[in-house]
Amino acid sequence: MQISWLLPVEPSVYAADVKNVTFPVFEECPICKSLVRLQRHGFYPRYAVVWGIAYLIKICRYLCPSCQRTVSLLPLFLFCHFQHDRESILACLRAFFSGKKPPGAFSRQLVSFWRRRFITNLPAIISALRERGWLSALPGGEKEKAIKVAERLSFWPSDPTSKVNLENRVLANFMALSF
Ligand SMILES: [Zn+2]
Repeated sequence: MQISWLLPVEPSVYAADVKNVTFPVFEECPICKSLVRLQRHGFYPRYAVVWGIAYLIKICRYLCPSCQRTVSLLPLFLFCHFQHDRESILACLRAFFSGKKPPGAFSRQLVSFWRRRFITNLPAIISALRERGWLSALPGGEKEKAIKVAERLSFWPSDPTSKVNLENRVLANFMALSF
């Protein structure tokens, strides 16, 4: 199981040395719900491209002594199965829907893939935001709607409600193939 985690430092600081951060302690297994302390279970590497800079980062893993399954801590700036960070993707989507040139050198295929996925997920993202009290009126056009939602998602997680949102599967991983 992957859990989204609000990284307390910049991605570059984390990539330089994982000792720069304190990892959370889990007193309850998110999979089997046993009230046991999860054991640290090493790291696995993955690539992350943050604003065009590639990093090899370590993903922290935990093992549940009760169900023997592992939980990994995916920093919130990353999505599962996406190399690029969420802010770059959001900036790119905002630019695309506004008819501007996307920042950074993303291939047309990649941008098109992101755009289609975002549009497909848009109703689920909007309803997740609404459930969390987002009251802003949305424009009628699909592009305009997408811009507004992408703006909202990039303000987050500096938003005071981020703790709530972090636990929301849709908002933590809004580019997922399914929820
Ligand atoms: Zn467990």
